[in-house]
Amino acid sequence: MTNWIDAALALTPESRLFIDGEFRPAADGGTFDSFAPRDGSLISAVSAAAQVDVDAAVAAASRAFEGGVWSRADRRHRQRVLMRLADLMLENLDELALLESLDSGHPISDARNVDVPNAARTIRWYAEALDKVYDEIAPTPENALALVRREPLGVIGAVVPWNYPLIITAWKIGPALAAGNSVVVKPAENTSLSTLRFAALAAEAGVPEGVLSVVSGLGAVAGQALGRHPLVDKITFTGSPAVGKRFLTYAGESNGKQVSLELGGKSAQLVLADTEDLTACASSVAWGIFYNAGQTCHGGSRLIVDEAVHDELVSEVVRVGESLVLGDPLDEATQIGTIVSQVQLDRVLDYVDVARAEGATVHGGRRVHPNGLDDGFYVEPTVFDGVDNSGRIGQEEIFGPALAVTTVNGVEEGVRVVNYSQYGLAASVWTSNVTAAHRVARDIRAGTVWVNTFDVADIITPFGGFKQSGSGRDRSLHALDSYTALKTTWIDLG
Ligand code: NAD
Repeated sequence: MTNWIDAALALTPESRLFIDGEFRPAADGGTFDSFAPRDGSLISAVSAAAQVDVDAAVAAASRAFEGGVWSRADRRHRQRVLMRLADLMLENLDELALLESLDSGHPISDARNVDVPNAARTIRWYAEALDKVYDEIAPTPENALALVRREPLGVIGAVVPWNYPLIITAWKIGPALAAGNSVVVKPAENTSLSTLRFAALAAEAGVPEGVLSVVSGLGAVAGQALGRHPLVDKITFTGSPAVGKRFLTYAGESNGKQVSLELGGKSAQLVLADTEDLTACASSVAWGIFYNAGQTCHGGSRLIVDEAVHDELVSEVVRVGESLVLGDPLDEATQIGTIVSQVQLDRVLDYVDVARAEGATVHGGRRVHPNGLDDGFYVEPTVFDGVDNSGRIGQEEIFGPALAVTTVNGVEEGVRVVNYSQYGLAASVWTSNVTAAHRVARDIRAGTVWVNTFDVADIITPFGGFKQSGSGRDRSLHALDSYTALKTTWIDLG
């Protein structure tokens, strides 16, 4: 068994910007610190891109795009390079997983078994798709031929959050590169290291200079510079609603670039009175919120439960939460790792106070220090019972291992409460009645509705939100489409 703590001590992560095919410090030498949430220690000072660095990355991306080295390359060439990149990710599985776990606090077992393989599969899936998608011929009159082709958009700016750095980056880079675009990625401040390593692997795989750059840096500086850049054709953003709306402003005040937003959520798990297997349901509900310490945008953070099954279900959810192994992310036995940062930890603990003030009964909810890791950011799986769905705990995204439980009476009230939210990213319904399942799935306003399960997904289905959860879709061929522009060529046949 690998000693991951020793492996982490031996790491010397690349922490410079990756621009135009090479690693380099920020032009002004600026850096910011990246900490390991497992023990609060400094991992590395990471280069902080300033405007001039973002300009250099975008200029290189634009040059590469106009030159056609990737944008007009044979699609089978792009396919081979991206397949090689997916292979290299798996060949470097342990290193990528360790960087991800150390930087984000994901358990190493999840980073190895889920994050890296999932990201590699995404890259491979879009590569494989390249010789399977066809363009269109329009139904013109007989004297004309109109071809409707998908062409790459140009320069894509990808701005990514810290909760699933590699997976979300792959969701954006995979289709964007496959379609022939150039991409400049701005990872989150807390989690730049796996993305920088990914960029090196992309270069090794044969992604040409300038086609993929990574500008680590502060959101308000590097993120904003990308959002306002006149040579960026599209921003694909995942993160908080507040910052997502800023990108709309940046676009409106610059070149009117396209903006695709994947924002937050307050996803509901609705359990109806006729649910047969409450034990299986409780396990799914608990994992639906506690996985990745609740830092999942579609995490099932609201349990809307019929009063007939409330007591049995909630006590079982609490029991499952208490049984999960919360601990050092670098321990292979750990099931639940850390909150990503001190800021986020304080935010989660503040919400525990809010829940009490709003009259909820709190199970768990304390900061803990497993294995003597006194400065790590660990919070117990938490259940707030007796929550008024219209209060702050029912409405605001906590982004921690905290489940808000609201009791309802019957299907109609359940659906009404589920839909009473500014968000609409995902939801689930638990029932043994197939008609009720279909009706509820139809009536819930969310981008994904699971029936008798939660959080099963794959690259084959689109992912994104209704309402303030966003406007774009990652994953599936719909995402590939979203990185292209339709071009009509109308030919007069005489
Ligand atoms: P965030 O919005 O603070 O940051 C996201 C990215 O935006 C980071 O790279 C950050 O540096 C950058 N940024 C921050 N301020 C900026 C500014 N003023 N201008 C330009 N860029 C800026 O979000 P976060 O804290 O990194 O992530 C947590 C949030 O993301 C949660 O709300 C969560 O629900 C959401 N999220 C949504 C999805 C989804 O697919 N819908 C997935 C993951 C996370």
